[in-house]
Amino acid sequence: MTGPLSNHTTFKLGGEPKLWLVLNKLEDIPMALTQVKQDGLNWQVLGGGSNTVFVGGETNLAIFKMMLKGREVVEDSGDYTLIKVAAGEDWDELVAWTTTQDLVGIESLSLIPGTVGATPVQNVGAYGQEVSQTIKEVAVYDVVNSEFKILTNNECGFGYRDSLFKCQPGRYIITSVTYALKKSEPLLATKTRAEVISLRQSKLLDPKVVPNVGSFFKNPIVSKEVGERLKEKYPEMVAHTVDEEKVKLSAGWLIEQAGLKGYKKGAFTVSSKHALILTHDGDGTASDLLSVIVTVIDRVKEQFSVQLEPEPVLIQ
Ligand SMILES: Cc1cc2nc3c(=O)[nH]c(=O)nc-3n(C[C@H](O)[C@H](O)[C@H](O)COP(=O)(O)OP(=O)(O)OC[C@H]3O[C@@H](n4cnc5c(N)ncnc54)[C@H](O)[C@@H]3O)c2cc1C
Repeated sequence: MTGPLSNHTTFKLGGEPKLWLVLNKLEDIPMALTQVKQDGLNWQVLGGGSNTVFVGGETNLAIFKMMLKGREVVEDSGDYTLIKVAAGEDWDELVAWTTTQDLVGIESLSLIPGTVGATPVQNVGAYGQEVSQTIKEVAVYDVVNSEFKILTNNECGFGYRDSLFKCQPGRYIITSVTYALKKSEPLLATKTRAEVISLRQSKLLDPKVVPNVGSFFKNPIVSKEVGERLKEKYPEMVAHTVDEEKVKLSAGWLIEQAGLKGYKKGAFTVSSKHALILTHDGDGTASDLLSVIVTVIDRVKEQFSVQLEPEPVLIQ
């Protein structure tokens, strides 16, 4: 594996890292960590590069390219099928396979790019499903204690686009994920998958054609009082109840209302198709990107007093 990170990420940004190390088997993990320690390098695990944006720092960076492969049905009880999948497997290929087996639980997460190992990191979600709803356990290498271990679903600290892995970057390298999927009536999962694919293809931008990372900002979660105050002022505002105390606002709606749909700086544009998507049309600079991010966050804060947060992992 070689070349600039722009060739290995869907945002197509990033220079040449100092070192590429490919993780093909479990033993490669402690070996790679020993090597970067000896060489005094920072390191970063990379799956499919669809949620990572490199904005500098590559010159002292080693990339651990996750290539662990394999899929195994570990238990097939009457109600549930437990499937253990290696971190380097392609996520959408897994979803496609499970739907052909009439298993439900992840079919609404169809067509999300990337690897299996990255799905627990931001607790991937779409159309009412979150991957944490079906994860039984996550196998990891614990970098601090230098040991392989298993984390139960509870131990993963899942939240909205959040997890222990996102909160403690560099602590765990995920080696496999075990999903518990339910048996369903024939063709139900396949039908949902087809509907989701058609919806996504009409709404989202294909990163192979237009470099992007999907949603660039998380939908902000605010208190019910803040949500009600905003709703009074902006009755058409999009808001969903999270629980008795919190509501989730639509970051895309806030960005659009702040007048930023189509906003452009250098090679970066707030998509005029969907304000939550930032596109990169090649040769962009880190400083232009950071300027767009700050502009979006500041303008939304100014108008709505709501704080936006980027969704992808920014490496600087
Ligand atoms: C067009 C498009 C649509 C998208 N739609 C959605 C959506 O609907 N819902 C959603 O939630 N996301 C969505 N995403 C974001 C992205 O696809 C997911 O977050 C995906 O899970 C990222 O997988 P990846 O392998 O590409 O991760 P990468 O970008 O390679 O990595 C993301 C982060 O996870 C870490 N990581 C990756 N693998 C491991 C591992 N094995 N161990 C430890 N850390 C690891 C990386 O270090 C990095 O911090 C979309 C992206 C695009 C481009």
